Amino acid sequence: MNDKILVTRSTMPAFEEYVEAIRPLWDSHWLTNMGCFHRELESQLKDYLDVQEVSLVVNGHMALELAIQAFEFPSNAEIITTPFTFISTTHAIVRNGLKPVFCDVKVSDGTMDDKKIEGLISDKTVAIIPVHVYGNVCNVDAIQRIADKYGLKVIYDAAHAFGVKYKDKGIGGYGDAAVFSFHATKVFNTIEGGAVTFSAHEMYEKLYNLKNFGIRGEEIVSDIGANAKMNEFAAIMGLCNLRHISEAIEKRERLCAYYLEELSNVRGIRVFDSKKAVERNYAYFPIIVEKEYNMSRNGLYDWLRENNIFARKYFYPLTSDQECYKNKFKDNKLECAKELAEKVLVLPLYPELKREDIKRISDLIKIKGKV
Ligand SMILES: *Cc1c(COP(=O)(O)O)cnc(C)c1O
Repeated sequence: MNDKILVTRSTMPAFEEYVEAIRPLWDSHWLTNMGCFHRELESQLKDYLDVQEVSLVVNGHMALELAIQAFEFPSNAEIITTPFTFISTTHAIVRNGLKPVFCDVKVSDGTMDDKKIEGLISDKTVAIIPVHVYGNVCNVDAIQRIADKYGLKVIYDAAHAFGVKYKDKGIGGYGDAAVFSFHATKVFNTIEGGAVTFSAHEMYEKLYNLKNFGIRGEEIVSDIGANAKMNEFAAIMGLCNLRHISEAIEKRERLCAYYLEELSNVRGIRVFDSKKAVERNYAYFPIIVEKEYNMSRNGLYDWLRENNIFARKYFYPLTSDQECYKNKFKDNKLECAKELAEKVLVLPLYPELKREDIKRISDLIKIKGKV
């Protein structure tokens, strides 16, 4: 039997590189509380992500929760979001005491269908939280036009979009804020970690309060904050991984090209459209299993699994169909999201994946299909 191949594998620097980098912590004994590595990573990420401000947080989910909280929306207000995402996006809205209103997505790229947003706006709507799902860039211009027309905030869940640029501008610079995840399984990781990016400097102070108990001095607590600081070990992991990020993304790009070459002639296997003027990060390799393929998505998932290939059904079930949300919120028509959730399969992809692994996976897909 061939070795197991999982959908992803965490990127790590060389052991010696990390050990050398954490050595100063044994002199300073300064392990957290916005230490020099936390600040250094914020500064390097501003450059790399091409954004004005970065606030580092303990993980992507807390980055989302705090970014939403920072806007101080009235309780029970509505936020338009997508059900075709990781559960965290909606949890962050609901845990802030706000109501998610699910908007359908486009089958062409899985992002929020901007043409279906306006019909969902009510007098309670305060914001839109779209997701650059798989690193596919949302229709940011159209979404901003709608937000401006109705006076709504836009917070992007950019957890999949590290390093992505649109029209020569860092993706974190679109909207009022964007949130990144640096979880171990993402393109760039700090083991666990995340960040909020934005342009308004007041937001930096607000997030600083929210991630550090609102403490502003030895005897001063000025806000009711949580604890969501990124620690120095995590920040150093980030500094090491950031040195190698371009190489890692180039490897991903080559592997995606190889997948495409292998799978382009298989009937009923489709990939998402990529938008013009996007510099991609090749975070995932999702395929859409259409009716013309000889098997259903679930059948293909099982077939790969029997052969030790662990693809994932991201994102199935939809957030709106999960036990904790089903029948709790307005049931908007989510036809395209439902269709995608039934058809999508994310194939293994990470920088160290070998060409022969892709050949093996593609051959398994081809055996069951008609070329
Ligand atoms: C990973 C992810 C998150 C949450 O990030 P964590 O760092 O795991 O907390 C949020 N949204 C999306 C779309 C994600 O993929």
